[in-house]
Amino acid sequence: MRIALIAHDDKKDDLIRFVKEHLNFFKQHELFATGHTGALITENTGLEVYCFLSGPLGGDQQIGSKIACKKIDLVIFFRDPLTAQPHEPDVSALIRLCDVHKVPIATNSGTAALMVKCLEKSNT
Ligand code: PGA
Repeated sequence: MRIALIAHDDKKDDLIRFVKEHLNFFKQHELFATGHTGALITENTGLEVYCFLSGPLGGDQQIGSKIACKKIDLVIFFRDPLTAQPHEPDVSALIRLCDVHKVPIATNSGTAALMVKCLEKSNT
């Protein structure tokens, strides 16, 4: 699967922990990410990640365009619900495109864990 990974600044540590906890799962998939998130994942896990621009500079929109073109199968986006984001319209647009194209999106670690567990089960 082609998986997009994004985390707001206060959630980046959570996402890295999540990817490390499920390293074997993520190793089997093609990974995409916004700029800083992707760089941190590669630095901390050694996984190969295709990095778009940083989110506030257009990375969320780049991932949105991949979703619209059916080139992303799953999105894991750890949002920070307690901090205003300058690029909130881009974040909303990305989530909207997931709904338009029926692309599963997890916006917190609980949902992401369920998704990963379910996909691992369906592979056995
Ligand atoms: P970043 O972008 O990975 O470049 O920090 C994430 C975001 O805030 O959308």
